[in-house]
Amino acid sequence: MKSQDNCIFCKIVAGQIPSNKLFEDDELLAFHDIHPKAPVHFLLIPKTHVDSLADCGPGEGDVLARIMLKVPELARQAGCDNGFRTVINTGPDGGQEVYHLHVHVLGGPREQWKAPAP
Ligand code: 5GP
Ligand code: ZN
Repeated sequence: MKSQDNCIFCKIVAGQIPSNKLFEDDELLAFHDIHPKAPVHFLLIPKTHVDSLADCGPGEGDVLARIMLKVPELARQAGCDNGFRTVINTGPDGGQEVYHLHVHVLGGPREQWKAPAP
């Protein structure tokens, strides 16, 4: 459902739904995916709701840049010494299930990943 009022990630930001957090500042939140597809699988989101990457415009430029620059830092801290995958599912054909923009970060030994990865 495309509704900020009923958005599960906004509820995580607000602390109304618990999450296993890796990182938080005034603009961003990172937390472990509830159904990990790899030994490391976390989500990095803007705290301010935007449905998807397709709904971003120039106003989201700064926060998108912050997200992408934060990814390698958090991946390193999570132990992804040998690389990681960054995924942004967008819209129905992109397989997006939660309509609050989020970046998946997956890592760890490839033979331990579950298929299909997001
Ligand atoms: P999407 O398919 O929208 O790109 O991915 C949504 C992701 O959010 C899925 O990998 C799913 O496991 C994760 N997810 C959905 N609900 C929750 C939740 O309540 N808590 C956490 N930590 N992850 C969630
Ligand atoms: Zn939201």
